[in-house]
Amino acid sequence: MSTFSAPKGTYDLIPPDSADFLAVREAISAPLRRAGYGYVETPGFEQVELFARGVGASTDIVTKEMYTLTTKGGDELALRPEGTASVLRAALQANLHRGALPVKLWYSGSYYRYERPQAGRYRHFSQVGAEALGAEDPALDAELIILAVDAHRSLGLRNVRLLLNSLGDAACRPAYRAALQDFLRGLDLDEATRERIEINPLRVLDDKREAVQRQLTGAPLMRDHLCEGCAAYHEQVRTLLTAAGVAFEDDARLVRGLDYYTRTTFEFVHDGLGAQSAVGGGGRYDGLSEMIGGPALPSVGWALGVDRTVLALRAEGVTLPTPSPTDVYAVPVGEEARGVLFGVLTELRRAGVAADFAYGGRGLKNAMKSAGRSGARYALVLGERDLAEGVVQLKDLHSGEQAPVALSSAVAEIRAKLS
Ligand code: AMP
Repeated sequence: MSTFSAPKGTYDLIPPDSADFLAVREAISAPLRRAGYGYVETPGFEQVELFARGVGASTDIVTKEMYTLTTKGGDELALRPEGTASVLRAALQANLHRGALPVKLWYSGSYYRYERPQAGRYRHFSQVGAEALGAEDPALDAELIILAVDAHRSLGLRNVRLLLNSLGDAACRPAYRAALQDFLRGLDLDEATRERIEINPLRVLDDKREAVQRQLTGAPLMRDHLCEGCAAYHEQVRTLLTAAGVAFEDDARLVRGLDYYTRTTFEFVHDGLGAQSAVGGGGRYDGLSEMIGGPALPSVGWALGVDRTVLALRAEGVTLPTPSPTDVYAVPVGEEARGVLFGVLTELRRAGVAADFAYGGRGLKNAMKSAGRSGARYALVLGERDLAEGVVQLKDLHSGEQAPVALSSAVAEIRAKLS
């Protein structure tokens, strides 16, 4: 143990568990890549103002959870608490929106929020996200949701539920907002929540406290205030999802913790995770580009939490296959054999065979134990006498059978056996 440990609310990814994180990132991104989404990577920090404007000044993320810093040059920066604002900023900066639309992008990375740590909630966590910029088309909303569902399915997750709602748009939300404010002002709420009513009343619906939720029965719902355009749009999304065999639950209270959503809004939840049940979420954010100084650019996107997806796999008892398990474990006996066998090892790897070596000059018995523990199918043992005879012993670690093969053709023979 060193004097140091990982900071509060963070944890290290270590083998073998780290393999699941890689597999989840791969499983989430594979459907996106097949659907024409290109990879984008943005800096780990941005100007504070981008998130203040892009995520929303009244959100918990901006008011309480950002890691901010002032550089020696006086710039106010924040570690990124989410991906959408940065990705949109990058796309606008590179003028991608002047090309063919929609611009479809995916990303994967670390995000930082100064939250109270608990199971499934960390200060450093990992997301894979996708954004489709510059098109208003219910098929695009449906596409993204379907791609997330396909990712969950490919991982073998069965118990992810999709909650779906529409938050309306600039035409119908103002009247709804006013009706909601009227209702909320009549409730018995604390000072901070009263302030929130004036800044972003929809977020009060998202308040998790029992005392607040109880008073919200009978609150006006966006669903009943959607304009014709938004209602028709939402209906089309629902129809496309149903046609794709994607089940969803209409959740008229779903607002999510970020300010920028319009129309389609959704969340993926998993009931095996306790309080932190959201494994991902997203929606349409038609006004966000203008909020950060860009042109009108109706867009839709989501982010899936990698940490919580791994927890969901564990909750369901799903075990993922080990990626590139060791096929061959090479065991040299004696100095000369060591050099020769190391050459064979390199050749094997270059030929695409996953192979490892008994390093550290341990005895044969110890080395064979390591071969067993490595999970390899074959041990390749080379002693002085084998060397003199130009052979190497190939041992099948499953059956225990062992036979000499010519050193010169060992790589080809092993490849043939493995294929
Ligand atoms: P959000 O950007 O808040 O919509 O989050 C998208 C997803 O990221 C959530 O559904 C979670 O799966 C994950 N996530 C958000 N915050 C955290 C956190 N503090 N720790 C772990 N995962 C998180």
